Amino acid sequence: MKLLEDRYGRVATDLRVSLTDRCNLRCSYCMPAEGLEWLLGDEVLSDDEVVRLVRVGVEQLGIREVRFTGGEPLVRRGLVEIVRRTKALDPTLELSLTTNALGLARTAGALAAAGLDRVNVSLDTTDAETFHQITRRDRLHDVVAGLEAAQAAGLGPVKVNAVLLRGVNDHQAVELLSWCIERGYELRFIEQMPLDAQHGWSREGMITADEIFARLEPEFVLVPAAEPRGSAPAELFLVNGGPATVGVIASVTRPFCGDCDRVRLTADGQIRNCLFAREESDLRAALRSGASDEDLAERWLIAMRGKRAGHGIDDPSFLQPDRPMSAIGG
Ligand code: SAM
Ligand code: SF4
Repeated sequence: MKLLEDRYGRVATDLRVSLTDRCNLRCSYCMPAEGLEWLLGDEVLSDDEVVRLVRVGVEQLGIREVRFTGGEPLVRRGLVEIVRRTKALDPTLELSLTTNALGLARTAGALAAAGLDRVNVSLDTTDAETFHQITRRDRLHDVVAGLEAAQAAGLGPVKVNAVLLRGVNDHQAVELLSWCIERGYELRFIEQMPLDAQHGWSREGMITADEIFARLEPEFVLVPAAEPRGSAPAELFLVNGGPATVGVIASVTRPFCGDCDRVRLTADGQIRNCLFAREESDLRAALRSGASDEDLAERWLIAMRGKRAGHGIDDPSFLQPDRPMSAIGG
């Protein structure tokens, strides 16, 4: 088997698959209130095409972990079946889902039965008004129900991802962590990245990892967890001696590009070797013009060789990628 190795010796074993660019929320740091120009029906990979490309990754290129994301993956109709067919490729594959959890209360059981191992739920606040302000929708209760259903279905450890926004929810960091600890969810704060469709990100506006610690430390004793970070983006801390933990994903101020083991497949069949890549490799065109599995694997290998050493957000020459996070798959 060939491995997805780049010029710097990093090997991608973790595939993030975006199943749709559409979403039923409008998080202000992700997309504008009016939404985006969505991909057209036939631009999006079919269920068969998704499963075929994942199979090539697993059988020929050493992919060991698959995370379905979007847009919002729960709005993709064939999701449960895609999960079931992916797990059937290799029962030892780790399968997870990154979701806003709207509707998860209805599907958590079916997803677990289909072979999903874990979920990461995005939740930035437990205050209904702030939730509405950030997501432009009044759906906090659905997220809470989705989290409970995921835990009951055994999709754990349930992780919660939160982005803090200055003057909006950054004063709620302590409250959010306490809420997650009480319910057994593992909270991870993520630094806001320049990946929004509106290009509204600014370094000054972003709440940094240091600021996150400054908000948590008056209330909690945080000690680095013993387990090494490895390729995991989150730095983990024991809270008040444990066993509860909190993670901080400091993609901007403490980049972990040197340990990256990820590669992405967009909903329209493009391989991206990095969230911040400026080039994509079109596997959909190849696949639809009759490429063999070996051809597809070869194209994928070539796409990895172009992976840059780092995202370069701090470079004066940094350019935000053309596609926003919701279209790439976060
Ligand atoms: N809709 C799903 C969700 O929200 O979990 C999956 C896709 S979403 C793009 C994946 C993750 O990216 C979410 O946790 C979201 O908070 C995060 N995200 C979106 N835009 C971001 C940005 N500009 N900076 C940092 N994280 C962002
Ligand atoms: Fe939708 Fe996720 Fe983007 Fe929020 S972060 S608008 S839930 S894709």
